Amino acid sequence: MAQLLRGSVWIGRCLGIRVGIHPSWLLVFALVVWMLTNSFADLGGEHALALAVVTALAFFGSVVVHEFAHALVARRFGVATLSIRLFLFGGVATIATEPPSPGAEAAIAFAGPLCSAVLAGACGLGLEIVGHLGGEPHLALLLMALAAANAVLAAFNLLPAFPMDGGRILRATVWRLRGDHAAATRLSSLAGMGFALALGLMGVGLAWHTHRWEPLWYLALGGFISIATIQSYQQACCKTAVGGSEAASQRKPAA
Ligand SMILES: [Zn+2]
Repeated sequence: MAQLLRGSVWIGRCLGIRVGIHPSWLLVFALVVWMLTNSFADLGGEHALALAVVTALAFFGSVVVHEFAHALVARRFGVATLSIRLFLFGGVATIATEPPSPGAEAAIAFAGPLCSAVLAGACGLGLEIVGHLGGEPHLALLLMALAAANAVLAAFNLLPAFPMDGGRILRATVWRLRGDHAAATRLSSLAGMGFALALGLMGVGLAWHTHRWEPLWYLALGGFISIATIQSYQQACCKTAVGGSEAASQRKPAA
């Protein structure tokens, strides 16, 4: 994963954690802006584009907040976070060591989706308030899009596919039940590979039936998850073998 994200541009440091952007993020940012501009087309060209840019920036900001939720809970368990980066498939927090216990791993993994769900709820509440006040339609559209995007982010990341958050919760559960970290990593990695394969096949199938290119995004996402699964599995095995502190990662596909 570190090799895939080589070339990231560091934009600052927050709570002692470096925050950066990989150039590939510009591609997904442009894609999201394009999709949102189409969604907001009723507003008219320039207004639609401006609101799309603001909404996309706010969404990727909430992806970074999701990553910080992982990082802050990790810190409580004595696990340092080296960096948080945005890239083609969302956000990634790189932690210095594997979590020390199943409970720690589950708590760290769950923190991100919980944070996204809270953000979705807050945006939904804000939308209600704006509606009651007879407020600004642009703000209502922004809040509606953010509520939906954060809800999807929370739900998607809870899918039990290692190394996504749900896959890490699965690994923590198996680790706790069997007391075998390596076996838990193998099982959750298999689930991750199965999910990646299913996602890729779904993308190809949808593209075939709809004669559109957009579903091929799922194929790319499946490919990325399979690479991430293999690399995370190798890192976990290496750590187990040497008893060292191989870097581990948490990933948040955003679309
Ligand atoms: Zn996450």
